[in-house]
Amino acid sequence: MALLNILKEGDETLRKKSRPVEKLSPRLIQLLDDMQETLKESGGVGLAAPQVGILRRVVLVDNGEEVLELINPEIIETRGEQTDYEGCLSCPGKWGITKRPAYVKVRAMNRKGKYYEADGTGLTARCFCHELDHLDGTLFIDKVERMLTEEEIENL
Ligand code: ZN
Repeated sequence: MALLNILKEGDETLRKKSRPVEKLSPRLIQLLDDMQETLKESGGVGLAAPQVGILRRVVLVDNGEEVLELINPEIIETRGEQTDYEGCLSCPGKWGITKRPAYVKVRAMNRKGKYYEADGTGLTARCFCHELDHLDGTLFIDKVERMLTEEEIENL
């Protein structure tokens, strides 16, 4: 396993659309392993492949119980609305208020090639939306209602 470099806002790769994974390969498994290690080290709750320079539709989401590996994920259901703050490993030091669905259900493939569904509320729901946005070149700063001030960040 290896720690991967996380691209920062301003890097053009973060603005590109990622392509679906067509078949499982040892390289993909390696990517998942490396992303797992990188996410753990970063202390974040989610990581998308484009953030480590790989334009493939692969994300990790830590739902508090396990780190879900989502290959070719799609949001299949949302309910309600929540407004809260979020940040991004690619935008260090920045936090902003965004509106996201209160409940999100996704469908994705796991590393064995099986499709499964996962859902969540609160931070997990936000994280599904945030990470899937990365696959289309969207960052949370594009969607913020407002950025938090330094003072607010200190009090998080
Ligand atoms: Zn992010």
